[in-house]
Amino acid sequence: MKVLGAMQDWSMRVTAIIDHAAREAPTREIVSYWADGSETRTDWAGIHRDAKKIAQALLALGIGRGDRVASLAMNHSRHLVSWYGVAGMGGVLHTCNPRLFDDQLEYIVNHAEDRVMLYDAAFQPIVDRMRDRWPTVEHYICFDSGAHALAFEDWIGAQNGDFAWVEGEERDPCMLCYTSGTTGNPKGVLYEHRSTVLHALAGLQPAAFNLSASSVMLPVVPMFHAASWGLPYAGAMAGIKLVFSAVNDPAVLHGLMEREGVTDSAGVPTVWLAHFQYCDAHGLELPRLRAATIGGSAAPRFMVERLMKNGTRVQHAWGMTETSPIGTVGGPTHDWDQLSFEEKVAKTAMQGRPVFGVELRTVSLDDMETELPRDGASSGALQIRGPWVIKRYFKADEDAARPDGWFDTGDVGVLHPDGTLQLTDRTKDVIKSGGEWISSVELENAAAGHPAVAEAACVGMPHPKWDERPVLFVVKKAGEDCRAEDILAHLTPLVARWWLPDAVEFVDDIPHTATGKISKKDLRARFADYRLG
Ligand code: ADP
Repeated sequence: MKVLGAMQDWSMRVTAIIDHAAREAPTREIVSYWADGSETRTDWAGIHRDAKKIAQALLALGIGRGDRVASLAMNHSRHLVSWYGVAGMGGVLHTCNPRLFDDQLEYIVNHAEDRVMLYDAAFQPIVDRMRDRWPTVEHYICFDSGAHALAFEDWIGAQNGDFAWVEGEERDPCMLCYTSGTTGNPKGVLYEHRSTVLHALAGLQPAAFNLSASSVMLPVVPMFHAASWGLPYAGAMAGIKLVFSAVNDPAVLHGLMEREGVTDSAGVPTVWLAHFQYCDAHGLELPRLRAATIGGSAAPRFMVERLMKNGTRVQHAWGMTETSPIGTVGGPTHDWDQLSFEEKVAKTAMQGRPVFGVELRTVSLDDMETELPRDGASSGALQIRGPWVIKRYFKADEDAARPDGWFDTGDVGVLHPDGTLQLTDRTKDVIKSGGEWISSVELENAAAGHPAVAEAACVGMPHPKWDERPVLFVVKKAGEDCRAEDILAHLTPLVARWWLPDAVEFVDDIPHTATGKISKKDLRARFADYRLG
């Protein structure tokens, strides 16, 4: 049949991103602040050149297509070089989270069958501890010192960079990232070239991270955590200036933001909290950022308010490792100019709206099947589908997503008529009392507003009559005192009466996961014998 016309084949591979950056924004800078306090500068042309060298160096080691190369590293330009270089030689970069517990690090490196380990000198103790437990790793290369292993610069310095990217399919894998595994072993999420390119394109848009050539981004979110939210890819597409810090000290971040003219930053709420505390303690103004992306856990209202008062647009984002991670991002809604400041803060404290490419729906928690209306009130299990959402975990025998694509996020939320997602809980943490659902997160957030509360965690405890009832565990701030009655009195005007916890227990600490989230699994285990009623 005669072809009527056609568009070109153009492979959606990660290499196209770095080729574009090197061609269109060759001198746009990439600044790195290192663990030893030194700073280096390169640019997109330099990243491209070194990525070619690392690709050559890996091939010279006998690493082949589909092989896994691990990184155990903070944010810096050499880590970025490995992102593009490993993908460019057809390999898969497995970004390991150095905060995982040793047993998890043993599991993920063996499960991934990593052949090379690229690591920061700061993690030498981890490497020394784990080396015998990582039998698949044949080569250790240190990003920033050659004291105990081959030094990265020497290793790639032996190559000439004259190299054509290894070609392949769009659906080939390029990166592997494990979830921290709040239940059972960590699970590997395999990102593909195509999913990565599409995800980065979505991240660029004004309704998401709003990046352009004038952006200067300091991503605090680690490159080992859900691919730093795709920012190093989206940033290359837009030709932005990137500022990396290998340390998360607020003094360093603040200094970099001021000196390097940072316009945008991204991190979990605790990063922003630490920044507020640093500025307050030193009588400093918050940096006047254009935009602050907050995600990974809910951005508290006071945080949103303070940043917005400082003239910073707050992009509250929701996602997970399984969704590459962008699901929703908060930006101005159609009625933004008509909203009062309070209304804008309230809207921004919700989790934003889906970007093009992903679809969201909520289903009944009772049958996990019946789709709920987007009425701003019905709370249900959140499901997602799209081209950068997981279909099957690495090496799993079965799909994680349903045959129609919907993937259960494990989150509970409400969808509003304008598409805004409001997250209310996790499906395994929501409390079922007398056939009705109580949000543990809302109780925690309300309790956290009490001036004597440092941290609060709420779990459903078995109850003879109601099935489950909420119990609130509270860590008091140092030097502060309060009684259970005070907390309950504080909660009374904030939540429905039947939501009020049956007990408030004061504890010295609340267990956390390796990524710093409250571990309700461990909290429940600690109070396994707890009885109500
Ligand atoms: P891990 O599973 O390793 O802790 P993820 O980044 O994959 O890391 O965690 C994803 C989960 O984090 C989501 O399912 C959700 O429960 C929570 N989360 C992410 N962003 C937000 C947000 N903006 N508000 C509330 N919770 C969030």
